[in-house]
Amino acid sequence: MERQLIRRLFPSGKKHFLASILDYSGANRLLRHWDSWSGLLVLNYHRIGDPLECEFDRNLFSASQETLEKQVRTFQSSCDLISADDLETVLKAPRGKHVLLTFDDGYRDNYDHAFPVLKACGASALFFIASGYVDNPRVAWWSEIAWMIRNAQVSIIPAGKWFDKPLPIAQGYPTQAIGQAVRKYWTLQDNETEIYLSDLSQITGAPRCTKSQAENLWMSWEIIQEMHQASMRFGGHTVNHPILAQLSAARQREEITGCRDRLTEKLGVAPLSFCYPVGQAHMFTSGTKQILKEAGYRFAFSFYGNYCKVSHKDWLDIPRCAIEYALPEVILNSRLTIPQVFAKN
Ligand SMILES: [Zn+2]
Repeated sequence: MERQLIRRLFPSGKKHFLASILDYSGANRLLRHWDSWSGLLVLNYHRIGDPLECEFDRNLFSASQETLEKQVRTFQSSCDLISADDLETVLKAPRGKHVLLTFDDGYRDNYDHAFPVLKACGASALFFIASGYVDNPRVAWWSEIAWMIRNAQVSIIPAGKWFDKPLPIAQGYPTQAIGQAVRKYWTLQDNETEIYLSDLSQITGAPRCTKSQAENLWMSWEIIQEMHQASMRFGGHTVNHPILAQLSAARQREEITGCRDRLTEKLGVAPLSFCYPVGQAHMFTSGTKQILKEAGYRFAFSFYGNYCKVSHKDWLDIPRCAIEYALPEVILNSRLTIPQVFAKN
C-alpha cells in the first residue's frame, strides 16, 4: 500500500522520494554547509534550449536557458564551481566540494544560450569539441539516425541484417526506436557505420540528411575563439565522434590527434582535457588512454555516472553524470549534497 502511494506520488521511484524528503525537510539546505562529501562532481550538458523546436534527437537537450541559469546559481551558492584551469589543483586537494560544468559536442546553442548565462554568473565551463563538425558542418550520425526514424515512412523496421527483432516506430515521438537504433550504431565496426546509415535510410524510406540541415547547428572556430577569450575552456572530443573502442589503434590516434591539432592551431594552446565519445565504460580501452597520454592529454572524462572522490587516481577516467531536461530540482539539490547516492546515472 505504502509502496503504491510512493509510486503514485513519485513516479520516478525511490530516489525521487528520498530526494523530496531531503529537500522539503530542509536537510539539503543544512547539508550544503557541511562536509557531506569531498572531491569533484562533474556535470554534463549537451544541448540548451527548447527541445520541441528540434528536428533531431530531443533527448539531447539538458536544460532551457532559464533552468540553466537557476542551476548555475545553485551550484555557486552550494559548492565551489571551478574552471578547467583548476582541475589539477582540485584533483590533488584533500577536501572541498568542487563542481565542474561540461558541455559536449560543440552545439551552437551552447554559444547562444549557455555562454550568456555563464558570463552573467561569472562562471566558466569546459566545452568538448568534435573538430570535424566545426570544419565541415554536417548532421552528426546520432542526429541523422533520430531524424530518419522520426521521418520514417514505415511503422516498423523488420528484423534482418541490423536488428534481431522487429523495431516498432511509435507514432509521435519514437524515443525507444531512436534509442535502439543509436545503440546499434555503437556496436558497429568503423567500416560498417556508413552502410548502416545508408541501409537505415532505405528501410525507413527517409532520405539522408542534407548539409543545409546542419546550418547553425555547430559552433564555428570564431565562436570558439571568442568564448575562449572570455574564460571558457575547450577540450578534445575526436574529429568525427566515433566509438573509439571500435577503431584500430591507428584510427583512434588519427581521431585523437587530429582534433588536438585543430584546437591547438585555433586557440594557440594545446588542449589538456578530452572526453570519450558517448563515454560508456566499454567505449574506450587502456590502449585509448595510452594514445591520449602520448597526445599530451592529462584529463579524460567518461560518462557513466558518479563523482570523483578525493582518492581518485585515474585522471584519464574522470566520471561525470548527466543533467537531463526533466531532472527534478529535488534530485539535483540532493546530488549536490549527497552525490554518493544521487550522482549515479
Ligand atoms: Zn559527444
